[in-house]
Amino acid sequence: MQLHELVNTFGQDLQRRYGEKVHKLTLHGGFSCPNRDGTIGRGGCTFCNVASFSDEDAQFMSVRDQLTQRASEVRARKYLAYFQAYTSTYAEVERLRVMYEDALKQADIVGLCVGTRPDCVPDEVLELLVSYQQQGYEIWLELGLQTANDQTLKRINRGHDFACYERVTRKARALGLKVCTHLIVGLPGDTPEDHITTIDKVVEVGVDGIKLHPLHIVEGSVMAKGWRAGRLEAISLDNYVESAVKMIQRTPADVVYHRVSANARRPTLLAPEWCENRWLAMTDIGRALALTGAQGSAIEDSFVYTMPVLKASGYSAR
Ligand code: SF4
Repeated sequence: MQLHELVNTFGQDLQRRYGEKVHKLTLHGGFSCPNRDGTIGRGGCTFCNVASFSDEDAQFMSVRDQLTQRASEVRARKYLAYFQAYTSTYAEVERLRVMYEDALKQADIVGLCVGTRPDCVPDEVLELLVSYQQQGYEIWLELGLQTANDQTLKRINRGHDFACYERVTRKARALGLKVCTHLIVGLPGDTPEDHITTIDKVVEVGVDGIKLHPLHIVEGSVMAKGWRAGRLEAISLDNYVESAVKMIQRTPADVVYHRVSANARRPTLLAPEWCENRWLAMTDIGRALALTGAQGSAIEDSFVYTMPVLKASGYSAR
């Protein structure tokens, strides 16, 4: 069984709605981050090194050139422009308007995905995004929450709490915007029960999309120091699969999974090693879901450990 038969994946969702493949092209808007420049905090989130997931040189290229270059690397005829790096709503609204419209006016762009923090989405930005949606563009507000546990949010120096996420999510969705929430599994301080509580709270607030990924310990982050000193352990493949599967099973079937795992490359990636291979977690998640139930199958269930069930069914973790 393929993953998209068990999970409502973004790729399939786009294919269904557009009748063809729609590819997401990542962009660097040259934005900064209020959790680094002292506006909200200094030092940033302890897991973060933006260079580990974004092309820092791209910030010196125009939006048009970035889109042209990215589009030449993939095979599709329609695209979503994804402002990914740093906090892509962190600027005067007029500057945002110029950036976003530079992307939207390119041929074959069907919409925008805008990645940001929940405490950095003022009403004028929501109104701007809604105006694009009203013109027929597909608009996703991608909010980094990471976990619903306020103590963990404090520990990783996020600079916002769950209530802040809840406020902006409810407001954005009431205006008709789609919200995709980013969650990290394996943050220090979070237990498997916290992963379940997080997905339950996110679903209860209301959400349209979810991006799930394991904690990557990357060079240049605050966590890298703790990991080198032996104060921090990376999540194992088994534990990630177990939590991801349960989170997916507790997610209503109409919520779209933009991602169920993520990979990273050495030497930037320090741990866990298994994150170098993008297929490992995805394959295991697919196999586990096939054995124990697809997305949405456990919404009413109480907390049950999946791994013993899997192992009894012949599942063998690497
Ligand atoms: S994860 Fe996002 S909010 Fe946190 S420091 Fe990095 S860019 Fe800023």
